[in-house]
Amino acid sequence: MNENCIFCKIVAGDVPSQQFYQDELVTAFQDISAQAPVHVLIVPNQHFNDLGEMGDAQAKILGRIVQVAGQLAASEGIASEGWRLVTNIGKHGGQEVFHTHFHLLGGRPLGPLLAR
Ligand code: 5GP
Ligand code: ZN
Repeated sequence: MNENCIFCKIVAGDVPSQQFYQDELVTAFQDISAQAPVHVLIVPNQHFNDLGEMGDAQAKILGRIVQVAGQLAASEGIASEGWRLVTNIGKHGGQEVFHTHFHLLGGRPLGPLLAR
């Protein structure tokens, strides 16, 4: 628990969120500023600043994140049309919240991977 981290507080339930899923490793909740009809954030319960801080020792957590993304895509009804799973790292990645998170996006055509 990082006292200054908004996502740690959301994981702990100290800050409210629309939660989609939680287990002993990961939590999934609605993005507060959704950019697609489905925009869910999937985070490790434990604090890491970004994916670059996670490695072999976190393989189980990272595997669970990917698994939950697939399950939520199915339960949110976007599995057949397709979806995207994105994580931003650092300044060039456009990261704004420094607790590792993956954006599950879908529900409309998402366009090119990068803005042109
Ligand atoms: P990043 O730019 O770091 O990859 O993405 C951060 C995401 O967190 C943004 O999409 C932003 O809308 C979302 N976000 C920031 N603060 C909050 C919050 O307090 N609650 C929720 N649910 N999402 C947040
Ligand atoms: Zn955190």
